Amino acid sequence: MNLDFDRQHIWHPYTSTLEPLPCYPVIGASGVEIELESGEQLTDGMSSWWSAIHGYNHPRLNAAAHQQIERMSHVMFGGLTHEPAISLCESLLSLTPCNLKHVFLADSGSVSVEVALKMALQYWHAKGENRSQFLTLKQGYHGDTFAAMSVTDPDNSMHKIYKGFLPKHLFAKSPSIGFNQDWNEQDSDDFRHQLAQYHSHIAAVILEPIVQGAGGMRIYHPTYLKRVRELCDQYGVLLIIDEIATGFGRTGKMFACEHAGISPDIMCVGKALTGGYMTLAATLTTSEVANTVCSGEAGCFMHGPTFMGNPLACAVASESLAILQNNQWQLQTKNIETWFSEVLPSLEHFETVKETRWLGAIGVVELHHKVNMQVIQQHFVEQGVWIRPFGKLIYMMPPFISQKHHITKLVNAIASALEKPQQTLER
Ligand SMILES: *Cc1c(COP(=O)(O)O)cnc(C)c1O
Repeated sequence: MNLDFDRQHIWHPYTSTLEPLPCYPVIGASGVEIELESGEQLTDGMSSWWSAIHGYNHPRLNAAAHQQIERMSHVMFGGLTHEPAISLCESLLSLTPCNLKHVFLADSGSVSVEVALKMALQYWHAKGENRSQFLTLKQGYHGDTFAAMSVTDPDNSMHKIYKGFLPKHLFAKSPSIGFNQDWNEQDSDDFRHQLAQYHSHIAAVILEPIVQGAGGMRIYHPTYLKRVRELCDQYGVLLIIDEIATGFGRTGKMFACEHAGISPDIMCVGKALTGGYMTLAATLTTSEVANTVCSGEAGCFMHGPTFMGNPLACAVASESLAILQNNQWQLQTKNIETWFSEVLPSLEHFETVKETRWLGAIGVVELHHKVNMQVIQQHFVEQGVWIRPFGKLIYMMPPFISQKHHITKLVNAIASALEKPQQTLER
């Protein structure tokens, strides 16, 4: 592979053209293993950013893609429809909370968030109310496009650089009480106060349910989410739940909002939707929201991507949901959670470790110091695992098919990195 070309001309996520860190060339992936050009096999701890829940190169997903590509890869979705989209949306509606009745297919997670925010704005516009604010949580993450950035944590992100270009929204204190800790009503005070004060300007609340992902891998108490739903009802504000990372079993429930027994007015899904095969996302909403949006001045919802409802992506997603529906995800995520609970606490004896936490198939090691990305990445590859930390967080969300020895291998690799903090951590 021409890695010099890659380094000189190709942008990777959040990287510099001046000092590009090395990328590892991959030639294949199968099950939970990623194969490097050098011949090394890496046990995957990332599911390629939450998405490859069934593992790589899955025979059923391959077959779905092959069958669909023989019929058609794509046709426009304006005025045309097809079986892959219909069967996918049927499955989606049967899995998600039952108040959700309408599906908008989008190209990526960030786009599904844009779509959700636009739905909320058009909803209030149709009702003749001028509401342009969103209330969200600090430490949240909703994507990299403009509207998604504007509701992503203001300190932890691009807000400084894009100041003046991003609309200013409201940020409540992020939940501080962990999933298994004792609930304390004060945790939702700031959220309650902001909603009480500004509700007449707020179109919707948007947040990640139970797990705040890219903004800090924080796992919070379900009662917080329950309070959010109650307060949104009390003040007549829409609730958008971003299940892009948490959806499709990752937290041990099909959707994380089930931990709190609540349902949103608008829900975003993405990442694992196609089992990690290709990009596809969706925004789901209630008949109330959809019909109000369409009763407004525009007479329709004003959005329609070129590749909306791509049949190839829909066919694979549909098969991925079929695998979920008839396989073992509950048992698998429960097992992974148990294995994390058996081994992660032992890492807390390293003085560099601030806390370990886990839920479902998510395991997190939070450090006091930032990792030295290049050194720790190379260390993990030498240990035969693929884990990609950011900042002070080393975290894992392995494919659901991972066995106990895979989890042990991942955690041992982290332990061995923590044994030489001089090299692997920054000071
Ligand atoms: C990844 C993510 C997004 C953005 O999805 P993309 O497909 O990367 O655009 C939005 N919200 C959450 C919670 C995410 O984890």
